[in-house]
Amino acid sequence: MGILKPGIKLFTDEGLRIDGRRPDQLRPIKIEVGVLKNADGSAYVEYGNTKILAAVYGPRDPGARHILLPNRATLRCRYHMAPFSTHERKSPAPSRREIELSKVIREALEPAVIVEAFPRTVIDIFIEVLNADGGTRTAGVTAASLALADAGIPMRDLVAGVAVGKVQGILVLDENEQEDMYGEADLPVAAMPTLREITLLQLNGVLTEEEFYKALELAWQGINQIYKLQKEALKKRYAGAEEEE
Ligand code: ADP
Repeated sequence: MGILKPGIKLFTDEGLRIDGRRPDQLRPIKIEVGVLKNADGSAYVEYGNTKILAAVYGPRDPGARHILLPNRATLRCRYHMAPFSTHERKSPAPSRREIELSKVIREALEPAVIVEAFPRTVIDIFIEVLNADGGTRTAGVTAASLALADAGIPMRDLVAGVAVGKVQGILVLDENEQEDMYGEADLPVAAMPTLREITLLQLNGVLTEEEFYKALELAWQGINQIYKLQKEALKKRYAGAEEEE
C-alpha cells in the first residue's frame, strides 16, 4: 500500500484497469450456498480470483461453560488463509493479521445476528481463504453472512462487503491485490443493505473528505449489487433443496 512504483501502469490509456474493468466495476462474482454437508451452514464466494469458503456450526452447547452468556449466543469467528492461498506458502499458524481480521469480521456480522434468540449457546464461524487476490475480509463477510443464513440462524439482514481503493488518484471499486498493493488508499466496507447500516469500515492510507464520501458511495453501489447476488444464491439453494433431500 502506498508504494507508487514508477513505471507500474495500473490503467490503460482508455482508463481501464489491469484486469480490464472500469473503475466502478466489480470483479465477476460467484456465490453458492450450502456447499458443505457436515457444517450447519456454508457458502462459497468468489470475487474474481479471491476465493472464500465459510462454514457455520451452531447454535450449540460447546461444553466450555465459561464462554456462555445467560441472555444471548456467543459469536466466535476464525479467519484463516490456507497455506496455498498466497503466492508464497503462508505459515498455517495464525498471524497477527488473521487474529485481527477474525475480530473485525465477527464485529461486522454480530449486528445482523439475532443473538438473543439463543441464550447459553455458541455460534462458530469459520472463514477459509482458498485463494487471496485482495478483498478477502469483505468477501469473507459476504460468505459468512450467507453461511449463517444457511444454518437457519435468524438475522436482521444479510451483510455484504466490498472494498474501494484509490489507485493513481482514481477511486476504484473492489480492488485486486495489485491495485491494493500499489494504491494510495484502501477502504473496506461491509453493511446490512436493507437496514442501510454499516458494520465494518476501515481506512488504510489517506483520502480527502470529498474522496471519502465518494468512495463510500461507490462501496454502497457495490454492496447493493452483491446483496442481489446473495439473495439469488439463497433462493437457488432453497429452490433446489427439496430435490436434494
Ligand atoms: P484484504 O484481503 O481484506 O484486502 P489486506 O489489505 O490485508 O486484506 O490484504 C490485501 C491482499 O494482500 C490480500 O487479499 C492478499 O491477496 C494479500 N496478502 C495479505 N496477507 C498476505 C500474506 N501473508 N501473504 C501473501 N499475500 C498476502
